[in-house]
Amino acid sequence: MSDLAAVLWDMDGTLVDSERLWDVSLADLAAHLGGGISAATREDLVGSSLPRSVAAVRAEVGLDPDDRAGVDADGRWLLERTKELFAHDLPWRPGAREALAAVRASGLATALVTSTYRELTDVALDTIGRGFFDVTVCGDEVAATKPDPAPYRRAAELLGVDPAACVAVEDSPTGTRSAVAAGATVLVVPSEVAVPAGERRVLRASLVGLTVDDLRAALAGEEAGRAADHPTPSGAH
Ligand SMILES: [Mg+2]
Repeated sequence: MSDLAAVLWDMDGTLVDSERLWDVSLADLAAHLGGGISAATREDLVGSSLPRSVAAVRAEVGLDPDDRAGVDADGRWLLERTKELFAHDLPWRPGAREALAAVRASGLATALVTSTYRELTDVALDTIGRGFFDVTVCGDEVAATKPDPAPYRRAAELLGVDPAACVAVEDSPTGTRSAVAAGATVLVVPSEVAVPAGERRVLRASLVGLTVDDLRAALAGEEAGRAADHPTPSGAH
C-alpha cells in the first residue's frame, strides 16, 4: 500500500470561487460588445475554455463567432477584465485556506494543477499564496487539458512522485476524470456541478476541517477497496 506522497490541488471551484468572477467578466464582455448574455449560455460556459467562451458571447450578441481576429481581441479584453477581478476580489471556498495550511505544515509535497492560463493563475496566486505549492501546472503549459490525464501526470513528474501515491482535490467531473486517469485518488468536494461516485474517489461536502489524516484515509481506503475488488490470482473465489 502506498503512503501518501503528495497532495495535488485544483484551483477554480476547489480553492477559490472564481466562477462568480467569470459571471461578472462574461456579462461585462457582452455589454462591451453591445448586448447581454442569457443565464442558459452562462451556465453552459461554466468551466469552459477562454476561446469557446468568447465565441459563445459573440454569437449571442450577433457577432461572427468564427472571426479569428475578433475572437482574439475579445479574448484579450475578457482576460484583462477577469485579471482585474481576480486581483481585487478572489473569494476562498469554505475551509480551503485552512486545508492548504494544514497540508503545508505537514511537510507533504504539494502542487497546484489548473486549467487556467499561467497569466491569470499568477494573479490568483498573489491572493492564494505561492508558498503553499512546490510546483504549479497551468492549462497553457501542457499538451492537453483536463479531463486528459496530462496535467496531473505532469505535476507528479515535477514532484518526482508516483501518481498512485497522490491525492488530488477537485470540485468538477472534468477534473476528477483527469486525476483518476492519471492514477491518483481524488478527494471530491463538489461546487457548481454534482460529481458522480466512482472508482478512485472519495466525496466530501466541503474542505472545512480537512486534515492530512483524512487525505491518508482517502488514499488507504481506496487502495483497500481496489485490493478487495481485484484479488490476486492465488486468492480464493
Ligand atoms: Mg475546478
